[in-house]
Amino acid sequence: MSHDHDPVDSHKLDNDKLEKAARDHLWMHFTRLSAYANSPVPMIARGEGPYLWDTNGKRYIDGLAGLFVVQAGHGRHELADAAAKQAGELAYFPIWSYAHPKAVELADRLADLAPGDLNRVFFTTGGSEAVESAWKLARSYFKRVGKPGKVKAISRHIAYHGTSMGALSITGLPGIKADFEPLVPSTLRVPNTNFYRAPAGTAGPDGTDEEAFGRWAADRIAEAIEFEGPETVACVFLEPVQNSGGCFPPPPGYFQRVREICDEYDVLLVSDEVICAFGRLGEYFGSQRYGYQPDIITCAKGMTSGYIPAGAMIVSDRLAEPFLRDTNWFAHGITFGGHPVAAAVAMANLDIFEREDLTGHVRKNSPVFRSHLEKLLDLPIVGDVRGDGYFFGIELVKDKATKETFNDDESESLLRGFLSKALFDAGLYCRADDRGDPVVQLAPPLICDESIFIEIEQILRDVLTEAWTHVGDTSDRDRSPAAAQTHRDLG
Ligand code: PLP
Repeated sequence: MSHDHDPVDSHKLDNDKLEKAARDHLWMHFTRLSAYANSPVPMIARGEGPYLWDTNGKRYIDGLAGLFVVQAGHGRHELADAAAKQAGELAYFPIWSYAHPKAVELADRLADLAPGDLNRVFFTTGGSEAVESAWKLARSYFKRVGKPGKVKAISRHIAYHGTSMGALSITGLPGIKADFEPLVPSTLRVPNTNFYRAPAGTAGPDGTDEEAFGRWAADRIAEAIEFEGPETVACVFLEPVQNSGGCFPPPPGYFQRVREICDEYDVLLVSDEVICAFGRLGEYFGSQRYGYQPDIITCAKGMTSGYIPAGAMIVSDRLAEPFLRDTNWFAHGITFGGHPVAAAVAMANLDIFEREDLTGHVRKNSPVFRSHLEKLLDLPIVGDVRGDGYFFGIELVKDKATKETFNDDESESLLRGFLSKALFDAGLYCRADDRGDPVVQLAPPLICDESIFIEIEQILRDVLTEAWTHVGDTSDRDRSPAAAQTHRDLG
């Protein structure tokens, strides 16, 4: 296993100071800070390719590409160089009424890569802002075309769409919304595409008809639009593969049926590809993987492989058209949207994609990755392996035959009390999550090949085998460091 040590070990004293400063001053996101009151904060200091090293020099596989971000892998000096070069030339200028070459070049390139007539690029600095922008654009668009009542946004149960107030309102996770209620009104939820737990009768008589299930799930959107009144609904936000809850791919025909419904009711289809764009599913955009045409794509994370923050919403010509006329404008902007350094890094990142054919690499190796993970189905705790591209979830169950899941206490003890820490200790950084049913999620850098999949499978096999021996033990024997590492509510 991966216990190699970095030759340039960090100094003990520095680490102690860092630990104290982290505890005293750093507000870690979506983290139970109390979990670190008496235990060390895991601190990653360096990355190279698919690997990370902590401040003690211990090596880990980056099984989550940071946070579904580091597509091209760590330690890419050409991305750092592109940033330095641009900062030296023009570090900052806004795209408010002015432009600069890098933002223009990147917009042009993204318009070429995006499906169909998605030709207009509105830059943001991350995913929540892209989602926020899309909802605002949908509302603004319908006002321009004489349908001002169309304001509501539909999304799916368990789906995470970000944390700003609008994006959080669209998010389907009550646990991360409650503290901030009342949120922005006019959002509603429809069922997810969890085929493993398809409600009885939705997937044909024997529960195996994925197309029937997809049709059923898509029709719930039509039902919601009818119920609310089509004249009140602006848009529906859907991820190509739905992340939280554990990588639910769309059943065959799902998005085609959603497209029909959106056309019928004049509702905008927003493909939230903050995770699923930039090669994660083996194409530049997730909608290309499943052959559907969105009205808006929201994206971020992998656009720069995380070497600097960047995001965008990419909009169809049809939606942009009213804003090209008269005194109309989209009254919305972000200081750092289209930042020259971010745009330069995104261009260099796309150069790597082209040169190394990263999307082709993912298409070719995704079945290999899946086959290694599917070997784990021989373990009693592994109920389902699902996903696509380099984006998989492994659902853990108490009883494989009945698909019985863990109760809240068991889940807490299994995921936070044991799994997260055990996987990390064994050299695999990934996510153990129970926003839906308990899952382990994997989304490594897109450069990974079979040798990494073999390592991942071996670590998972060892740790999940041990986890099974803890099933039923709710004594929460080791809560502290793991409790904060589980990414319980992260996006
Ligand atoms: N939308 C989706 C589908 C996401 O997965 C995320 C984050 O993970 C977001 C939006 C929010 O992105 P950010 O954290 O960059 O604001």
